[in-house]
Amino acid sequence: MWVDINTHLELMSAPPDQVLKDARNANVGYIATGTHPKQWRWLEGRAPNVAFGLHPHYVIDESDWLMTLEDLLHRDEQRAVGEIGLDFRRGMPKADRQIRVFENQLSLAQSLDRAVIIHTVKSHHEVIASLKRVRCERFVIHAFTGSKDIAQTYLSLGGYLSAGGLITREPRPRVASVFQSIPKERILLETDAPDLPIVGHRHGSPVHLPQIGGALAEVLGFSELAIQQLSTQNAHRLFDYDFSQSN
Ligand SMILES: [Zn+2]
Repeated sequence: MWVDINTHLELMSAPPDQVLKDARNANVGYIATGTHPKQWRWLEGRAPNVAFGLHPHYVIDESDWLMTLEDLLHRDEQRAVGEIGLDFRRGMPKADRQIRVFENQLSLAQSLDRAVIIHTVKSHHEVIASLKRVRCERFVIHAFTGSKDIAQTYLSLGGYLSAGGLITREPRPRVASVFQSIPKERILLETDAPDLPIVGHRHGSPVHLPQIGGALAEVLGFSELAIQQLSTQNAHRLFDYDFSQSN
């Protein structure tokens, strides 16, 4: 079985039952990631493996969101934290506010011993500083596209790196050589569906995960089966979920 560590079920245009059935038929287990309090509530009970977090895009003054998050995480040990992180593109919430919200959630994940799915755009140095401040070691950088040096820093902190649809492009993107350089037990796969579609598609879907795995297998010179087994074992190690439940 393949494991898609980051799919946004509530944003897909197809009905969730259909998405889940298609994923099952494609032999893909998944983590459904909710990035806003409304999405967390929507996802409850709809998917067996979930992650809840306040995405930097939604860093807003909503005084009780952290309590809501804590409550939802306490309800089930099989819940990770994510996507959370820092996004310093223009028009995003102020950096100091993003950092405060990010570190609050990192601390919560740390205190409950939950894995964290991290979103970072134009913010690797600040994300690394936050991870060090909070001493968070159980995390994955989702859809990683950084340099070899940045990759090594995340790995030295204990993190995993996840490859997304970008890796299916030809010629291969620069990040392909980064994935060649890192220990294979730290690699994960994701679709980030419906964002970051693979080549030839307008929208992502968990059913595309085997193609992302296939592209990575080609980059690394491994068989597809080897990548499937390796990335699934890695997902089990980080998240401690029973992904066969989603199948
Ligand atoms: Zn993201």
